[in-house]
Amino acid sequence: MLEIKGLTAEIDGKQILKGIDLTIPQGEVHAVMGPNGAGKSTLSYVLSGREGYEVTGGTATFFGQDILAMEPEERAAAGIFLAFQYPVELPGVGNANFLRTALNSVRRARGEGELDAVQFLKQARAAVKKLAMSEDMLKRNVNVGFSGGEKKRNEILQMTMLQPKLALLDETDSGLDIDALRIVAEGVNASRGPNFSALVITHYQRLLDYIVPDHVHVLADGRIIRSGGPELAKELEADGYAGIIGEAAEAA
Ligand code: ADP
Ligand code: MG
Ligand code: MG
Repeated sequence: MLEIKGLTAEIDGKQILKGIDLTIPQGEVHAVMGPNGAGKSTLSYVLSGREGYEVTGGTATFFGQDILAMEPEERAAAGIFLAFQYPVELPGVGNANFLRTALNSVRRARGEGELDAVQFLKQARAAVKKLAMSEDMLKRNVNVGFSGGEKKRNEILQMTMLQPKLALLDETDSGLDIDALRIVAEGVNASRGPNFSALVITHYQRLLDYIVPDHVHVLADGRIIRSGGPELAKELEADGYAGIIGEAAEAA
């Protein structure tokens, strides 16, 4: 499980995360919502180990291991799926080869044998079929010329094949149409089970119509100001963020 305590972080000397406390037990899906500029993406980047984000305090552990001290590849080997590690466009790199390399690196870390090309292709084809994707996507270069929806499907294909213990998904505000939301939701829902947890970050309540989270947290100005059940997302849809931010300010 993921346990974050008092996490503070800055970018270029500007404090963005101001003390995040968040625990995600095994088997649960948590959503982090919040207005633009709240620090949602910063939280996912810090947990991913992206360069340029300086942790200034607090801890983040995954099954007791300090993930903040780990390289991004080590975090992946520990069972954390970080969408940004399986990146944007890689001209000249075949999607199937890229995916097999990523999968074998995670399998080595898990003490499982590597898959040869034939074994891999069998698994990849099964996953592609399950996600209602075209097999062509395995033959193309990684994300090159993919539509927004195809990139999303590819990200979910990567997640499905890597079988992480924890998926960190930052569904950024731009470019996610309803089809893309459904793709993400179906992928997460299909992965749900006692050994899978997810942190789904979104600006949109709408995604949570498809992925019903176990818990919802509202992030505003670098802090989690409210946590609740799935009904909290409905409340936000009806009242917007302003009401909740106002209440939190009054209580402080
Ligand atoms: P969210 O994902 O909730 O919209 P972000 O984590 O992207 O918020 O951004 C939080 C704050 O950090 C914003 O005020 C934003 O302007 C600032 N910020 C984000 N990235 C950078 C950066 N690379 N350099 C300076 N400020 C940044
Ligand atoms: Mg934003
Ligand atoms: Mg963001």
